[in-house]
Parts: sequence; C-alpha cells; structure tokens
Amino acid sequence: MKRSTFTGLLVLLTLCQTALAQNALIQRVNPTNWWVGMKNPSLQLLIYGPNAGTLAYSLNYPGVKLVKTHTVENPNYAFLDLTIGPTAKPGTMKLIGKRGSQTLTQPFELKARDNSPKGQGVSAADFIYLAMPDRFANGDESNDKFADMADPNADRSNPFYRHGGDLAGAAQRLDYLKDLGVTAIWFTPVLENNQPLTNEGGAMRSAYHGYGFTDHYTVDKRLGGNEAYKSFVKKAHAMGLKVVQDAVYNHAGINHWLLKDMPSKDWLHQWPTYTNTSYKYQPITDPHGAERDRKVTLDGWFVPFLPDLNQSNPLVANFLIQHAIWTVENFGVDAWRVDTYMYNDQPFMNRCNQALMDQYPKIHIFGESWVNNVVDQAYYTRNKIDFPFKSNQPGGLDFVLYSSMLDALKQNFSWDDGVNRFYQALAQDAVYVDPNKLVTFLDNHDTDRYLSVIGDDFDKYKIGLTWLLTTRGIPSMYYGTEILMKNFKDPSDAEVRRDFPGGFPGDKQNKFEAAGRTDRENEAFQFVRKLATYRRDNPVMHTGKLMQFLPQDGTYVYFRYDGSKTVMVATNTNEKEITLDAARFAERMNGFTKARNVLTDQTLTGLNMLKLPAKSALVLELVK
Ligand code: CA
Repeated sequence: MKRSTFTGLLVLLTLCQTALAQNALIQRVNPTNWWVGMKNPSLQLLIYGPNAGTLAYSLNYPGVKLVKTHTVENPNYAFLDLTIGPTAKPGTMKLIGKRGSQTLTQPFELKARDNSPKGQGVSAADFIYLAMPDRFANGDESNDKFADMADPNADRSNPFYRHGGDLAGAAQRLDYLKDLGVTAIWFTPVLENNQPLTNEGGAMRSAYHGYGFTDHYTVDKRLGGNEAYKSFVKKAHAMGLKVVQDAVYNHAGINHWLLKDMPSKDWLHQWPTYTNTSYKYQPITDPHGAERDRKVTLDGWFVPFLPDLNQSNPLVANFLIQHAIWTVENFGVDAWRVDTYMYNDQPFMNRCNQALMDQYPKIHIFGESWVNNVVDQAYYTRNKIDFPFKSNQPGGLDFVLYSSMLDALKQNFSWDDGVNRFYQALAQDAVYVDPNKLVTFLDNHDTDRYLSVIGDDFDKYKIGLTWLLTTRGIPSMYYGTEILMKNFKDPSDAEVRRDFPGGFPGDKQNKFEAAGRTDRENEAFQFVRKLATYRRDNPVMHTGKLMQFLPQDGTYVYFRYDGSKTVMVATNTNEKEITLDAARFAERMNGFTKARNVLTDQTLTGLNMLKLPAKSALVLELVK
C-alpha cells in the first residue's frame, strides 16, 4: 500500500516535470484589451496557456508599470497587476514572458477611449422592453447554429432548443419599439453560452436563455457576436434608445473555458458533496438566522451545470469587475440588470457596483432579488433600515410591487385585499432611499405571462398597464405583452418564451405590423403606445411626486404632480360603474375645473362627481 502510493507519487512528479519541461504558450489574455485614461489606473491581466504561470513577466511601455505577478495552483495561469499612468498613450504594448532560454512576446492593446455614449443609465423617464434575443426576431439565418459548438442545434419546433433569433433581427425591430414608446431595450444575456444540451425535468434543453456564460469577452456568435452587439447598441443610441445588459456574476456555465482548467480550486465554492442553493433568501437578512443556512443560500450551486463563483477570492472578483467595466466601455451599454442578485456575495456586489459607478456616474444597476416582502427587497438596494450590511445598489427589480399589482387585479376588494395590496406596497416606500429607481413590471421570462395571470381579462389588462406606466419607478414590459401574448409556465417556461410572431422567416403572421394584428391586439398595442408616449413626453410622470389616497369600495385614486402638472389616476376595480365623489381629493384637485382624458384626448368638465366605468382606470391631466 505504502509502496504503491510512493510509486504513484513518482509517476505524478515525473508527469509534472514533463509538463513543466514543455515550452510555455499564451492562449488567452483577459480582458482582451483595455483603454488609457480610465478613472481607475489599476488593471489585472489574466494570462492563460500551458505553463503560462511559469514565465517571468516584464513589459516596457511608457506610462505602464507591471507592479506584481501572481501565480496560483494551476501553472497555466498568471495574473499581472498593472498600473496605467496618466501619461500612457494608446498603442500596443508587449508583454514579455521568459523562462530559461524561452522568450514569449504577447501583444496587448491599450485603446483610446471614444466619446460615444455609454453608461447613460435608465431612470423613471424610461420605458424598458425586455426581450429574449433567441425568441424575438431572426435577422440572419446563417448564424442559427454552428457545428463546432457544444450544442449544434437550432429547431423552432422544439420549445427547448434555440430558435435562431439574433441581434440583427432585433436591430430591424428598433423602429417598432421606438414607435411603441419604448426608450430602452433589455435583452436576456447575450454573452457566449457554449453549453451542451442539459437534461432538465426529463427534457434536453439548450442554453438559449443565456444565463450560463462560457466566455466573458465574447457575445454568442449565434446572436451575431461582438460586432453585431456593437452595431446594435450604436443603432439604438442613434435612435435615442438605451441598452440594458443582463449581468450574471453569481455563477457561470460549467463549460466556461476557465472552469474546465481552473486557476485554483477556490475559484468556485466547493462542497464535499454536491450542494444546491436552497434559493431561500431569509437566511441572509434574518437576525436570528443560522450560518449553515446562510452558507447554503450564498455558496450552494444554482444548478449542477451553473457552479457558484467564489467572489471572495480577489482574483475572481477582479475578473468579474473588469469584465463589467470592459463591457460598458467596449459596447456602450447604459445600465445593468443583475441576475440572482441576492445569491451573490454582497460585499463583492458593492465593490462591483462602485467600480461601475465610479467610472460611469450616470449608470443604473437593478438586480433581481425575487422576494415577497419590502424588508428583504430593501436589503439589496440603498435603504433606510439599520441593517448590519448596507447595499450601495441604486435600484432593483420591484418584485413586491409586481406581486401586489397582480393581487390587486386578482383578488376581491376587502380590508387588506384587492387594490389595497397595491396601495399598501407603495405605502411602505419609506424604507428605500429612492423608490423611483426601482424597476417595475407585470411579468418577465421567469413568470407566468401577465394576461394569463389576470384571467385573460382585457379590462384588467388595461388597468395593470395603466398602473405600471403611471406610478413611481422605472416601468419595464416583457416582449409580446403589447400584442396580448399569454400563457402559464405549464408545462414549462418555454410556454412564456414563445417566438414573437413575424420575427422569423416563414412566419404566417407578422404582429410587428398593424395589418398582421387582430383588432384587439391593435387596441392593446395602441393602448400601451398611448400611455408610454404620454409618460415619455411628460416629466411629471418621471420626477413628479406620488400621492395616493386610501382605497375605498374597490376604487383607488392617486396623483402624480409637480410645479407644472397634476395627473390623476382613478381606478375602479368593481364590476359596475361607480360615481366617485372627488371632495376627498381636494388636497390635490383644488383649483382644477377640467381635465383631459389622456387615453381618449377628450375634455372632462364637472370634476366633483367622476364617473368611473366598471373595471377601468382613468388617467386625467387636470386643467385649471
Ligand atoms: Ca439567426
């Protein structure tokens, strides 16, 4: 036993020596380039290739210093700390790697920063459209599939396979989105997901959703690659539209090139046996919580093929943060949506957010924290609660308002139910530093579609969209809501991720055009368009204050107001018409005698007794 172990060790040593005796090679450098004149002069280069960590590195480039070289367990990696001083000029510097008689020269480009828009942020002045690029529009059939990728399939008849949608297709629909009143586009992640098909729930599924990155510096070539993304952003910006990128810091695809030959074991959170996150968020905020529960939530893997990155390893943290900065600088994206925000190491998230905000002061960041209460939601954004950890995230997806709006439409009115749910959620806004920076929504790619949730009821559909587009926050809408796409996630989430009709070659219907839509779909489209453009063109809807009155008898009234305008939103959730005595709202209505109905453009007189049709929401711009 002893002897065979000894022999085994000898064999291992010999193998290692043989490997080390081989010449070194540099195959990858991340980031793939950088810029001069960035606010933070520090840059950490990840160098990868056989024995790349055994080279002694140096460089000779005016204004740039190599401060330190880090080596790790795996001899195939070196991490170089550089300082790029204010005198450094754009150009290609040469990294020199030496070992014995071998000398390697690796070019690395320092670009000049251009003055194109980037990191512009999104605010309550915006209306975000969320689309899955694989399911929205296919503008280039030649990139639908590639034989050299781990998943070489594309098949629109299979709900779990890639369907061929891409950035070129989305770029062709920007006119449609702009006409709808959209001001920002958020795609589910666009980075390379060179993942094989995985068996989930008994079906083989592709990574068309994009949440399993396999390269942080490459946009998936099935979406068109880096150049298609650059030109998409450029075209969007030229049209006055912004682009939100979906970031995933918590995990990566198990097929990520870096995870197939890890720098060190602690690049990931490792467990003695496979441990999934519990997905429970209470252990993170619970003052009575157990450390074990907290660790499982934060360090457990998202699923077996999406392993959990160890962000407390400074090399991992730098890798992720620099990728974020590089992405904004290279592509010009304006804001970040952050996936699974609450499962990330929160001190890391603060560092990452701060690095982005230091470089791009106007950038907006809104993470996904899928919680059911205001306290937990506040924890992940700038808040006024005395938590031991203080988040610096400026925004967040408003899951509390999402569920309360749906409850308000689904439940009968009572002391706590129905429209009281919506009212009560907003009444707790005091916990946030700025609730107007939260991103509001009625559904997304992970939920049942809105129209199905509210029982396919067109009147309710209009009420919810009216709330979304007139209350505080940054409204976002899931693709297809404007043409009444519906479905539950039964039997799978593919049901809520269907192709946009007309986006794909050979589609029999084209719902991007009025002629391809039914009367009701056109009514829905025009309804969204009317409210979205009103919101877009009226600052009172962006920065105006919100005042809400206690719901009564199934009615709910609130106002948006500033020094120049007052807008009244009056909802009747009852099945019958109600005549509302406006005396109760004198605080906001005094001095106004008339109103313009924003949806119909009709003028209304006699504001003291307001007729609210059954199941409706009026949007009235008050006139003196
Ligand atoms: Ca395509």
